[in-house]
Amino acid sequence: NVPLKEEDPEIYDIIEQEKIRQWSCLELIASENFTSQAVMEANGSALTNKYSEGLPGARYYGGNEYIDILERLCQERALKAFDLDPTKWGVNVQPYSGSTANFAAVMSVLEPHERLMGLDLPSGGHLSHGYATPKKKITSSAVVWDSMPYRVDPATGYIDYDKLEENVALFRPKLIICGASAYPREFDYARLRKIADINNSYLMADIAHISGLVAGKEAANPFEYCDIVTTTTHKTLRGPRAGLIFFSRTSPRNDKLEAAVNASVFPGAQGGPHNNTIAGIAVALKHAASPEWKQYAQQIRKNCAAMAAKLKSYGYKIVTDGTDNHLILWDLRPNGLTGSKMEKICDFVNITLNKNAVHGDRSAAVPGGCRVGAAALTSRSLKEADFEQIADYLNRATKIALRIQEKTGKKLVDFVAACAQDEEVKALQKEVE
Ligand code: PLP
Repeated sequence: NVPLKEEDPEIYDIIEQEKIRQWSCLELIASENFTSQAVMEANGSALTNKYSEGLPGARYYGGNEYIDILERLCQERALKAFDLDPTKWGVNVQPYSGSTANFAAVMSVLEPHERLMGLDLPSGGHLSHGYATPKKKITSSAVVWDSMPYRVDPATGYIDYDKLEENVALFRPKLIICGASAYPREFDYARLRKIADINNSYLMADIAHISGLVAGKEAANPFEYCDIVTTTTHKTLRGPRAGLIFFSRTSPRNDKLEAAVNASVFPGAQGGPHNNTIAGIAVALKHAASPEWKQYAQQIRKNCAAMAAKLKSYGYKIVTDGTDNHLILWDLRPNGLTGSKMEKICDFVNITLNKNAVHGDRSAAVPGGCRVGAAALTSRSLKEADFEQIADYLNRATKIALRIQEKTGKKLVDFVAACAQDEEVKALQKEVE
């Protein structure tokens, strides 16, 4: 057994360089986090060698006595982390990712071409919630099912529940998906349940972004109102990259959800489970059920609120004028800057964030804002004052970007070339580092 460094120095070096990048940048991507050493050890373990199609106690391969123990333990920990009664909720821990979890979850309740409604991508929703462009059904969720999006109110940035209610009565979807990738506010699950009841529709919450907050009871509880709850495990939940599907055992719409979800995951959407990942999820979930998790979840929200307040104090426009969770949607259109330019200049000064569509953007190709998240740096123990300092860096980056744009005009390539040469950019980069 030769260590990676000797066996394949090229790959070893890429990993080392990426580690340096991750640790020397201010990581503000709202969907990312830093997993623990323990999660990574489990994820990189010998469990990756094993095939275990099926479920604990009912596998299609021999040699699964330890994998069965592992998967059952992971299920137990998932229910415990979200404070769920095992007689009322069950969970499938095998999805490879959030998108696969969503595909399998929808497949468990909808036949092909039945109808669903999810939050539109430019309103902060996720691709896997039925997203299609006006020209093409670019996601499997829009190819397989008939989808009609709902949106945020352009005046406020909040979900337009009245319009959703109106459209549910017309479109009569069998499933409503709530949850988002870029929505800074709380979801009104009680209202969503009421709306779903118009058509006796299933209600599914995709809590991928906020599951760490839900586990810490720092976000509203979707389990009180939903038939199905999905999540990724690698965002605020701080585990390895994967997904989970929770199914209600008491749904008045379906008393066979467990069998339907399990069959949709395997053989419906996937093959053999990634047991190394399941071990990593179990480690992360143990942490999510611990007393210090609450403090982490609280600190994420405090940090994010502090950063939002500081950005607002500089006069910037924050969608919905603030945040309830771990992210800020920053509308840069009033400043005359695109999200792409902001992302680029931030890359130059060692701040990592992503451009993001803001509702009302004229083209999806030119996102009008940025998404800024607080979870990853909260995991690195940063507090409110640090996040105010980050807001200050972001303010300075914006000012420099505007000065450079004035010189270079609209084109992104010219802007990037000028950033690479700019002395103020270099100075800010050194300071951030
Ligand atoms: N659901 C939501 C709300 C997300 O934000 C994401 C990813 O960002 C996903 C699902 C998909 O997760 P994955 O990238 O693991 O497929």
